[in-house]
Amino acid sequence: MAYDSNNVFAMILRGDIPCDKVYEDEFALSFKDINAQAPVHVLVIPKGEYVSMADFSVNASAEEMTGFFRAVGETARELGLEDDGYRLIANTGANAHQEVPHLHFHILAGRKLGPMLSR
Ligand code: AMP
Repeated sequence: MAYDSNNVFAMILRGDIPCDKVYEDEFALSFKDINAQAPVHVLVIPKGEYVSMADFSVNASAEEMTGFFRAVGETARELGLEDDGYRLIANTGANAHQEVPHLHFHILAGRKLGPMLSR
């Protein structure tokens, strides 16, 4: 799938629409999900134009991959989530119900999250 530069996260990266920023470095931006599913619900996105994990895992450079994954961990650390724990989700494609076609990891935390899948 070709990257759509008008997707909502591309607009956030360009500063066309605002976000509630949690963390930023040269590789990634983290911000609060607009429709939180848990007391803590933060999205981490790479700054590069990657549709999904499928795209990123093949086409990103080693530096981009390292930078992105470090940013995911750093975001969780800065949010103080390491002691109680957190869940990472990266929906990829139709079966996973990926809505925004720019790779994002959800960080969910702040309560016991229950089983991994609702059904
Ligand atoms: P997914 O279904 O994995 O693609 O998740 C997309 C997520 O993006 C959803 O949890 C939405 O609530 C979230 N989202 C959509 N638009 C925005 C926005 N403008 N700011 C923050 N989060 C958003």
